[in-house]
Amino acid sequence: MPYDTQPQASHFINGRYVEDPAGAAIDVIFPYTGETIATVHAGTAAIVDQALAAAKAAQPAWAAMAPRERGRILTRAAQIMRQRNADLSLLETMDTGKPLQETLVADATSGADALEFFGGLAGGLTGETMQLGEDWVYTRREPLGVCVGIGAWNYPTQIACWKAAPALACGNTMVFKPSENTPLCALKVAEILTEAGLPDGVFNVVQGMGETGKALIGDGRVAKVSLTGSVPTGRKVYAAAAHDLKHVTMELGGKSPLIVFDDSDMENAVGGAILGNFYSSGQVCSNGTRVFVHRSIKDRFLVRLTERLGDAVIGDPRDAATSFGPMVSESQMDIVLGYIDKGKAEGARLVTGGARLDRPGFFVAPTVFADVTDKMTIARDEIFGPVMAVLDFEDEEEVVARANDTPFGLSAGVFTRDIGRAHRVIARLEAGTCFINSYNDAPVEVPFGGMKASGVGRENAHAALEHYSQIKSVYVRMGDVEAPY
Ligand code: NDP
Repeated sequence: MPYDTQPQASHFINGRYVEDPAGAAIDVIFPYTGETIATVHAGTAAIVDQALAAAKAAQPAWAAMAPRERGRILTRAAQIMRQRNADLSLLETMDTGKPLQETLVADATSGADALEFFGGLAGGLTGETMQLGEDWVYTRREPLGVCVGIGAWNYPTQIACWKAAPALACGNTMVFKPSENTPLCALKVAEILTEAGLPDGVFNVVQGMGETGKALIGDGRVAKVSLTGSVPTGRKVYAAAAHDLKHVTMELGGKSPLIVFDDSDMENAVGGAILGNFYSSGQVCSNGTRVFVHRSIKDRFLVRLTERLGDAVIGDPRDAATSFGPMVSESQMDIVLGYIDKGKAEGARLVTGGARLDRPGFFVAPTVFADVTDKMTIARDEIFGPVMAVLDFEDEEEVVARANDTPFGLSAGVFTRDIGRAHRVIARLEAGTCFINSYNDAPVEVPFGGMKASGVGRENAHAALEHYSQIKSVYVRMGDVEAPY
């Protein structure tokens, strides 16, 4: 190992590492070699209780701190995170299998962006006043209390920070449960926040599987749950939260359309489709996996796409030259291979890839299917792997209807040189996060989230503050109270 990947202990509670070996062992696997790089223990009932008790106890003092002070701590954490980007990125690469080329620019750096952005906004959290003649009303923006964050495995550092930064900026505390596949990076986030001056108990990490998540959500001390995960998990978590009418943010899956019109800049459109299908080996929720290409340019598009995929450098994700890494786990690889088999069986035309690569590690070749029809499984289900489905279309009306014919609504993209068409089509697409002549940009300044089954609420931007705070209205009467008796 390049450095010790085994954390000091499994959990981070009340400002320090905590262990409880009674919890089930979770092996952390480096997806490039299949070797175990660390072992942590799932949180037991005692650990869950300890973390929630710490978060509950720390919350009033954290909320009472001047918001600018809270912001300063988050900003300091962002600076530390940037200084340690190289080490943090390597750890994320080992945890997820994503190439260092990606983790260096899209993980800890994205987490630092969130800490910096919400650190800056903390001091500007304000209410409003409404003048009602003599009387007036003011509103206070108050925290929710203890928030639970539950993460997926594709962007462990980013997900932890995208949830913690706005939550903490608003005066909440958090217990975060990473995916069991990628437990390491959130612990580093906790370490860094503590080093930056975060009071004990404000951000806690508890490891575990779905059961631990369930225990956290079901606890009466929790005011809000923010999940990044699949739609089936989203349904369960949303239902559990609904029992106590807890607040939720749901960042769920997608099957997003990417529409390439006949007047598109071909190289940019192919580049967008590559970014929207093969970055992180396709393990990105907002991916544009249904690529609708105008029939008149389809052949040219497929030729250029295949040529450019031939330039992918597939290999050791720790190598700076590598641009395409393994899947996060053997089971995710098997799921993706199952979908590839379905694509073949249902009559889609395999253009390139279509199999596991003959090498150690959980590698699936970048795969493109053409002549995909709307009813095929690979055009309907979220695959979460490097599998692109190319569908033909003839006209705008038709493609908008087909693009919207899905329960998902996370993202959508349009490539065209016709400015009127670009805005007209985007306005009609049922998706929360859209792109014109681009794909998958996610800067912290921009609200991120889904419509329909892809989610509830938004992360990032000012919008996230709405989801981590609540408004109290205070009516102030200046004159006498006129009671009827
Ligand atoms: P899962 O839905 O399998 O799991 C997400 C998290 O929820 C994990 O930490 C998981 O624990 C936990 N969990 C599972 N069941 C429960 C439960 N009943 N109660 C509480 N927590 C539970 O998603 P994946 O980890 O497989 O991630 C891939 C999915 O995430 C894809 O669908 C992808 O689209 C989506 N995603 C969405 C994003 C967005 O912003 N919209 C961004 C990134 C991914 P564990 O797995 O450890 O058992």
